[in-house]
Amino acid sequence: MDCLFCKIAAGTIPAKQIYQDDLVIAFDDIQPQAAQHKLIIPRKHIATLNDLSPNDTHLIGHMVQTASKLANDIGIAHDGYRLVINCNPHGGQAVYHIHVHLLGGRQLHWPPG
Ligand code: AMP
Ligand code: ZN
Repeated sequence: MDCLFCKIAAGTIPAKQIYQDDLVIAFDDIQPQAAQHKLIIPRKHIATLNDLSPNDTHLIGHMVQTASKLANDIGIAHDGYRLVINCNPHGGQAVYHIHVHLLGGRQLHWPPG
């Protein structure tokens, strides 16, 4: 399948990986929008939030738990951070393999753009 994040998960495209386990991989975003910007992706290809099935409940929970653990590991948990999952064009999704953005290390603003 011609999917950038499947290729990163398979190791055929390099990424600055910071975590991996049986279900997910986490790596630095190539175009960081904050001092800390990590992406948490499932090994399994799921295109968008709209494509989640009830079988994915554990997986999506694990992605959020992993993001929270990484926030702690990289030292931004206390000050705070933001998790984002963009969906489809209005959500600003560019890569159609579901991913959680972990953003922190600066004051983030609301509402988002
Ligand atoms: P989204 O707009 O939510 O689909 O986010 C896609 C993210 O993937 C963007 O923040 C990009 O900077 C990031 N990205 C694109 N290509 C790569 C890559 N090769 N390695 C790491 N991050 C990437
Ligand atoms: Zn994929």
